[in-house]
Amino acid sequence: MWRAAAVRALRGAGAGAPRAASGAAAAQLRRRLESELEDIRGAGTWKSERVIASRQGPHLRLAGGGAGILNFCANNYLGLSSHPEVIRAAVEALEKFGAGLSSVRFICGTQSIHKDLEEKIARFHQREDAILYASCFDANAGIFEALLTPEDAVLSDELNHASIIDGIRLCKANKYRYKHMDMQDLEAKLKEAQKHRLRLVATDGAFSMDGDIAPLREICQLAQKYDALVFIDECHATGFLGPNGRGTDELLGVMDKVTIINSTLGKALGGAAGGYTTGPKSLIDLLRQRSRPYLFSNSLPPAVVGCASKALDLLMESNAIAQSMAAKTQRFRSKMTAAGFTISGKDHPICPVMLGDARLASVMAEDMLNRGIYVIGFSYPVVPKGKARIRVQISAVHSDEDIDRCVEAFTEVGRKHGALS
Ligand code: PLP
Repeated sequence: MWRAAAVRALRGAGAGAPRAASGAAAAQLRRRLESELEDIRGAGTWKSERVIASRQGPHLRLAGGGAGILNFCANNYLGLSSHPEVIRAAVEALEKFGAGLSSVRFICGTQSIHKDLEEKIARFHQREDAILYASCFDANAGIFEALLTPEDAVLSDELNHASIIDGIRLCKANKYRYKHMDMQDLEAKLKEAQKHRLRLVATDGAFSMDGDIAPLREICQLAQKYDALVFIDECHATGFLGPNGRGTDELLGVMDKVTIINSTLGKALGGAAGGYTTGPKSLIDLLRQRSRPYLFSNSLPPAVVGCASKALDLLMESNAIAQSMAAKTQRFRSKMTAAGFTISGKDHPICPVMLGDARLASVMAEDMLNRGIYVIGFSYPVVPKGKARIRVQISAVHSDEDIDRCVEAFTEVGRKHGALS
């Protein structure tokens, strides 16, 4: 009987038709959500998603047309997202180890490839051990709560990534926020925090909105002076900053001074997904026991593990890939500066073209797409008011011609809209 009722209900709704909840509470919720969505549209901060119909890479095809689009807005810094060896490794892992584990790690979700990848990550960063997460967002969400208690203190750069901010919110430590990359302010906050048992300074290694690099040498000196630990988020550094692509700590010569690194497998390291913490073995052991996003979320799928593992092999075999991007970045930055644009940051493949006005950033990005160049405008609240920009991201697989085409298009569009005289 229940079957007949279910079939009738399904027919009533129309096969496959969405079901709308009824009742006063559902109607009230719908009104509230629609009003909130209207506010977002009204504020001009609505984020729409372009649909890509090809692999990630320097040249894209957009759904509904748009072939041969030059892509300058992915975190595919090393071009490994569609590297044939990375794809092959994923297929092999999928065939050998299956689609997934249907389990968290500590119940029935650890395969030999997870242990191998953790060992490889630790070796890559020259640390004692590493632990995998479904994302770096999860790694950041898990670490502070597991490590810090109300007796401790965390000192965080005001422009740290949202996931660090959320992770810090979840912990009960005393919280200090220092001005962006301001060492005087950090020192003042470290003095204030001397009363606590343990101090942890937390910073992005490279900041994704400005393409600037944290002054890690100075941060580590202050940490030493005031007996603090240093944590860095290396999502926009792992794989390509430093002579061997180890990251900001290698670039600035402080590999032995940074205690904890969190990073992602979802950007330069193959671009699939996943994140990790690497550092002292006792810390990693503790995270396996206490970190909630690790304990209560599924294991990384084998294909994803296969991609990251191969990306790390490629990077450890030779430093040529890590170094391949620097010249491209330099070409873009110097040509754009010569054309009259202001590019924020220094020597980083995140190249924000500073425009100031939000509308200008948005219409210029749209016009760039009309010329076959995919870039994204950022405005408030993602960046401060009056600091709207178009963020360009360089990849090792962009050709010199790709970069020159992008600069030419920017110059034309900038002149057209009054951003260049
Ligand atoms: N930290 C930083 C600095 C990021 O830019 C990102 C991603 O945008 C994350 C953490 C989160 O990484 P994931 O995509 O692996 O969750």
